[in-house]
Amino acid sequence: MGKSKYDKIDGIIDIYEIPYMICTSIDEFMERYQEVVGLELDKSTSGLCKELSVKIKGISDECYCLLICVFDHSPNTISHECGHAALSVMERIGEFDVISSQEPFCYLLGYLVDKVIDKIDKESLLRIS
Ligand SMILES: [Zn+2]
Repeated sequence: MGKSKYDKIDGIIDIYEIPYMICTSIDEFMERYQEVVGLELDKSTSGLCKELSVKIKGISDECYCLLICVFDHSPNTISHECGHAALSVMERIGEFDVISSQEPFCYLLGYLVDKVIDKIDKESLLRIS
């Protein structure tokens, strides 16, 4: 069996050991993840957040993974989709009471926002160089 095109992730949320993938354009989403997500993308959407089960290189079983898409690169969409992603992680680790447990949620939210901005910045740098 050939190498899956979905075995590449963008990183792992270290403390929770949760893999994530970030798409910063509709083209990237179409190329990498449409088949995995299994939904028709409304092209007018500014972003989306999904929980996936994917096969990741070096890990034999299907694995829980977060997909964070920010297509318009706006702070509004970045924070919105990362908010969904952070809540998904809280649910995944069994921390449902984010109101009285605000710091883990807010640190995670900031961490994910950093990761999305890192990727957008790198792409912008690549474009102008
Ligand atoms: Zn939303």
